[in-house]
Amino acid sequence: MGNAALPKSWREGEYTVTRTTAWSAPGCHEGCGVLCYVKDGKLVKVEGDPEHPFNQGRLCPRCVALPDVVNHPDRLLYPMMRDPSQRGNPDAWERISWDEALDRVESKFKQITADYGAEAIQMFHGTGRDVLWEAQRLAYSMGTPHDVSYLSGLACWMPRLVAYIMTVGCYMMPDCSQRHERRYDDPAWRVPEVLVIWGNNCVQSNPDGFFGDWAVECMRRGSKLIVIDPRLTWLAARADIWLQPRPAVDSAIAIGMLKTIIDEGLYDHAFVDEWTSGFDELCSEISRYEVDSLASAAWVNPEKLKAAARMYAAGNNSAIQLGLAIDMQRHGNAAALAIIDMMAICNNIDRPGGQIFTPDPAGVNNFGWGWEELPQQQQEKLIGYNEYPMIRMGMRLDQPDLCIEQAISEQPYKFRVAFMIGTNPLTCMGTDHAKVKEAIAKLEFIAVADWHMTSTIQAYADLVLPVAMYVEKQGLRYMYTNLGVMDQIEGLEVRGECKGDEEISWLLGKRFNPSMYPWESVEDMITEMLTPAKLSYQDLRTIHWYYDPMEYGRFEKGTLRHDGKVGFSTPTGRIELYSYMAESIGCPPMPYYEEPYLSPVATPDIYQEYPVIVMTGTRNVQFFHSEHRQIPKLREIQPDPWVEINDEWAAEEGIRAGDWLWIENPKGRIRHRAKPTPTLRKGMANLNAGWWFPEMDPHEDPLYGCSGVNPNLLLENGHQGPTGFGADLKSVLCKIYKCKEGEF
Ligand code: SF4
Repeated sequence: MGNAALPKSWREGEYTVTRTTAWSAPGCHEGCGVLCYVKDGKLVKVEGDPEHPFNQGRLCPRCVALPDVVNHPDRLLYPMMRDPSQRGNPDAWERISWDEALDRVESKFKQITADYGAEAIQMFHGTGRDVLWEAQRLAYSMGTPHDVSYLSGLACWMPRLVAYIMTVGCYMMPDCSQRHERRYDDPAWRVPEVLVIWGNNCVQSNPDGFFGDWAVECMRRGSKLIVIDPRLTWLAARADIWLQPRPAVDSAIAIGMLKTIIDEGLYDHAFVDEWTSGFDELCSEISRYEVDSLASAAWVNPEKLKAAARMYAAGNNSAIQLGLAIDMQRHGNAAALAIIDMMAICNNIDRPGGQIFTPDPAGVNNFGWGWEELPQQQQEKLIGYNEYPMIRMGMRLDQPDLCIEQAISEQPYKFRVAFMIGTNPLTCMGTDHAKVKEAIAKLEFIAVADWHMTSTIQAYADLVLPVAMYVEKQGLRYMYTNLGVMDQIEGLEVRGECKGDEEISWLLGKRFNPSMYPWESVEDMITEMLTPAKLSYQDLRTIHWYYDPMEYGRFEKGTLRHDGKVGFSTPTGRIELYSYMAESIGCPPMPYYEEPYLSPVATPDIYQEYPVIVMTGTRNVQFFHSEHRQIPKLREIQPDPWVEINDEWAAEEGIRAGDWLWIENPKGRIRHRAKPTPTLRKGMANLNAGWWFPEMDPHEDPLYGCSGVNPNLLLENGHQGPTGFGADLKSVLCKIYKCKEGEF
């Protein structure tokens, strides 16, 4: 458990080297081990820690570029404020002290609470970087339940998470040995015979605690590979079977595969009898579908789909990595249910090289930390609490589509102030740009903590706090595989007056609710969070990482459920192929196939005028959401937003690489540069998200040009799935044509 024999810090020639954990660079979802090199008080180099079991020395370019982030000339270094009448004026910012800044936030938020109730406060936070628990605890200390993201249908992780909870009671991942400290050498682990990468370009995006290199390692060790993706990705090009579906109809593919496995009797009958419930109902439900029709609806060869199902079922241990693309469809929850059912009936759950549970290491889980301290009547003000009861599970975020309607209508009450940590909703996750702008503009006061000026700060914020990077602060990495800490690295001179997100939460939270922040220091606060692990911050710092012992087949041993009984963490103790919980709250209890709200099938008239199916939300390795556009090394990889289009179609239209194109639908029009590619079918396009131009003069546009290129201009709120989760971000019908000379 950990390795205390490894040094924390040492000299290497002219460098001081420190071993630490990178939970953020500045943003991501991983938590890699890194070696940080300091010379003359400056961070000059970051390398992967070859000893760390998680990433084994590998890094993506965002961590490699961290010195450029830390030393960036335009980094925010001091708290600043401007009069709310001066929003959008880049010259109106004035440097203030931390005390003044914290006083201002405290007095304004307390006054609003006294006049209107704490529910008039909104808390926004980004994803990745350890901003989640800090933001939530701070919100609860203020008395508000409103943890807000304006991403329609919370179309990121929630549809998958809820599907896992409905069926097996806990989130799961493919077993690529990541929970073993000895990794691929652990004798208990087996390489997945078949690995399915579904809606996920994991070697580019390192999604949700899954490091893409693990898939490559499994391939090297013999895993057969099935890839399901509308794009010919690096992995798809190396797959044994690649299914290239029409975007956003993954439930058709999944039900088709599930039905093939059932119809051909390829499942584990004994396991189904003993450990699942609802199999008969599931069989009856999917009997109304024809596999060939489902495949045709998804534009996939039926025989190929059946071959994929047979290959998956034939593996003694098969594993599926479910990607973000599943969430970014209105019926993503239904697709995830069908995929999980497939894992279940093939007895791949809780098996070596199959699908493994991802409990938080040593029980350390800080999602919603402090929620219980909110009075019941405040908890019930979580938006969607009654309309979409599943919103109370998982991350406890307001249901975004309802939330934005309330923000604009001011009914039943108005949101008046907001605190934002590490988020840029006007550029990135705020679906339906015009509405997000309107909602944010209505707020009387906005305070933001971030490391660099953003469009949201420049256009609408009134106060800004400068945040520290992981090499400059104390923090905790937790979730899925291991625990680790961050600490200010040896020899580094911290620039300006930056503070970690944890410290900002601690400093402010003490002012709002001292009993929720009783600790003398951030270190004490982190030690408190580590209580379930029986480790202190300093213990963890010494051993570098902590892994729980990994065991398989826990459901059979009675070590999975809290009550010590055998079975799964569901009401019946079985894998619920029919979800009684979902049924009880009026949600579909089983998988189903429905079209996106806009598609060639659902809306043929619209499709005729807007004949390109545009996907958005795909990730690149060089950027994390809207971050990193100001880092030259990373920007060089991609200087402008681009739209991938089929190369033959581009040639027919006289479009060349780099041409500016309009992407237009009835909602709006944006421009991106053309990137013709053979990796997409004709009639499909893939659009970058999160773009802005930090190099622009904010006097010209305080939004730094994001409105001209933001795919959120093409998206519409209010089409969430029946659970309240999922939104169609992968099936946006548009037309694409060349911009004329001088048009913008
Ligand atoms: S996934 Fe990439 S950015 Fe994130 S910690 Fe690991 S190397 Fe750094």
